[in-house]
Amino acid sequence: MAEYILSIDQGTTSSRAIIFDRAGKPVATGQKEHEQILPRAGWVEHDPAEIWRNVQEVVGLALTRAHLTRHDIAAVGITNQRETAVVWDRRTGEPVYNAIVWQDTRTQEIVDRLASDGGIDRFKQIVGLPLATYFSGTKIAWILENVEGAREKADAGDLLFGTTDCWVLWNLTGGVRGGVHATDVTNASRTLFMDLQTLKWRDEILEAFGVPPSMMPEIRSSSEIYGKAESSSLLRETPIAGILGDQQAATFGQAAFQAGESKNTYGTGCFLIFNTGEQIVHSANGLLTTVGYKLGDSPAHYALEGSIAVAGSLIQWLRDQLGLISSAPEIEKLAAAVEDNGGVYIVPAFSGLFTPYWRPDARGAIVGLTRFANRNHIARAALEAVAFQTRDVLDAVNADADVALSELKVDGGMVANDALMQFQADVLGVPVVRPVVSETTALGAAYAAGLAVGFWKDLDELSANWQPDRRWEPMMDADERDRQLRLWRKAVTKSMDWVDDDVR
Ligand code: ADP
Repeated sequence: MAEYILSIDQGTTSSRAIIFDRAGKPVATGQKEHEQILPRAGWVEHDPAEIWRNVQEVVGLALTRAHLTRHDIAAVGITNQRETAVVWDRRTGEPVYNAIVWQDTRTQEIVDRLASDGGIDRFKQIVGLPLATYFSGTKIAWILENVEGAREKADAGDLLFGTTDCWVLWNLTGGVRGGVHATDVTNASRTLFMDLQTLKWRDEILEAFGVPPSMMPEIRSSSEIYGKAESSSLLRETPIAGILGDQQAATFGQAAFQAGESKNTYGTGCFLIFNTGEQIVHSANGLLTTVGYKLGDSPAHYALEGSIAVAGSLIQWLRDQLGLISSAPEIEKLAAAVEDNGGVYIVPAFSGLFTPYWRPDARGAIVGLTRFANRNHIARAALEAVAFQTRDVLDAVNADADVALSELKVDGGMVANDALMQFQADVLGVPVVRPVVSETTALGAAYAAGLAVGFWKDLDELSANWQPDRRWEPMMDADERDRQLRLWRKAVTKSMDWVDDDVR
């Protein structure tokens, strides 16, 4: 009998395949980074063909390392970087352009144009999102308006759109030979096109963006059999049975299934999700309303989300652009060499500020510099920036929710950093808890797939798998916390109002 679930995590920096056992423990992993294509300031692209090649390769790696074959795999789950848009030709399977990544800000003009009639909240009541470059709808519009021949092909019904879950599913299930063109409700809820109530595309919004409905994938639940891997693939005949966007997958992997539960993931960006159950809650404090998950025919669960564009990527920037460190974990030692930030604050508004500010006119700032400041202070300020941004998001969640959050479940690559986690508990004033399995994103997609094929019985069985690993208690005194927060907020104001018409 098949005793494992395979999860494909198509992330922003890499693609991973992780095989999980019944206890939700990872038994083997394959991972491969793909190129970050940065053609000019503000533009971020990936090569969809490279992504698909890497996905196939990491699946092979994981199976080999675990000494397993497809016969041991009960189902496949997919989780993905959200909002990143791929547009391809349904007849050839060739993308018409590189994938435009969620961080990419080239679509600001499209956003401004659409917002000129009704403001950035024009569709918010329906889709839960403000108009922003972040969401995939603006990226599809850009491709149709700027790639030669794309508009004609789209109008002829030859082009398909998908986020990378959809791109992987279509290829995995046969591509041009009858691939399934579908996505799940969580990914669909990040396009700007899906009605949160009906979970269907809204034709008049597609029309406002100039996107033909024929390009759009079918919207399915997060846990059901979408199709089987095609016969020529390594996974042939294995059902693909779970899809969740990465942040929703991490929430599911953290077993935050019920209203009032939440998690914060520290990866390239930082994303806090707060489950609001079957209720659609509209934020008065700059949070997004999104779908949390939907299991088969059961009602959808919704969530409020705080999205921070730059977290781990600030550490990557210190490594790659400034050469301050040669690997991400080195930041911890550098930051620990000084007692405090020396008055230095970094606001990493590289793509503007997301939650709760939504200021596309902001750009990165390092403030509070004096002759005293050194590389250690910069390192420390970078870590602190991640914690301060999370505090801003948590304040918004607490203001929207009836009850304040009493602890924060965390995951993602950066939670390996103990100093950051301690500082996070300090500036939040509530404990921070890390689970034993920190690969919660891949685990969440595995859970969704396993539930669909009866590998796991129900949510209670999954909750029983969740185990705490470490807990950080707040230790900073309240006056010091308030002082630091005051300075952070002042720093944020200094990053705003930077972009003029001729500065992009
Ligand atoms: P993603 O899934 O978005 O690709 P991950 O969850 O794998 O990201 O996290 C990777 C990020 O975490 C990278 O941006 C890296 O800079 C950062 N990171 C990894 N280890 C550390 C560390 N010890 N301290 C601080 N940041 C770290």
